[in-house]
Amino acid sequence: MNGKYKHIFFDLDHTLWDFEKNTAEAIEEIYAMFNFEQWTFTLQDFMEYFREVNIYLWDKFNHGLIDRDELRDTRFNIILQKLGVPEKAIPDNIGEKYLEIAPVKPHVIPHTHEILGYLKGKYHLHIISNGFDDVQHIKLRSSNIHHYFEKIITSDSSGYRKPHKGIFEFAMKEAGANPDNTLMIGDNIETDIIGAQNTGIDHIFFNYGDTVHDLDITFEIHCLSELRNIL
Ligand SMILES: [Mg+2]
Repeated sequence: MNGKYKHIFFDLDHTLWDFEKNTAEAIEEIYAMFNFEQWTFTLQDFMEYFREVNIYLWDKFNHGLIDRDELRDTRFNIILQKLGVPEKAIPDNIGEKYLEIAPVKPHVIPHTHEILGYLKGKYHLHIISNGFDDVQHIKLRSSNIHHYFEKIITSDSSGYRKPHKGIFEFAMKEAGANPDNTLMIGDNIETDIIGAQNTGIDHIFFNYGDTVHDLDITFEIHCLSELRNIL
């Protein structure tokens, strides 16, 4: 146990909720549901474009260049147009269907349950996510990790997006925490790590993809099980 920290804030997507695995399953279901084999692209193509466009749009969202509705409304239009589907043939309800299917997927990053069980009771655990209230709460329940957390802070509930210090300050206020007894854990350098640094909060970079960087980081892990060595 690390006596310095009382509050631990986790990012959700890619840090605990296995975004890659869950969305891959959802995309496969969407491909079958809308009979996309009628077009010339494969499931693999659909998956690749989804990943690419989703990263592009989330980056724009994190930088405040688009809002939630624009992200959701344009995502599949961009993907399918890139894949050569005429605009009028793009199903109206595809974005809605994706939001029904993906958040109920249960997969978590390896060691999630074990490490949250270990930390619960020793620290106050919370979530800070740039995701949206409607789906993030569903993800926490469908992956059965909601009961570990006291405060769930999203871009919706705080009115700010990581890396803006507004979301971290809002979260600490909600939790009754301060920068000296708080630790942020996340997989994204730009949002989780830079955001924590700008707010004066110690941080753990979950570097599962072995990203090379030259940042001065409080702690770095490559697997969630390594949290036992720090906390
Ligand atoms: Mg993340």
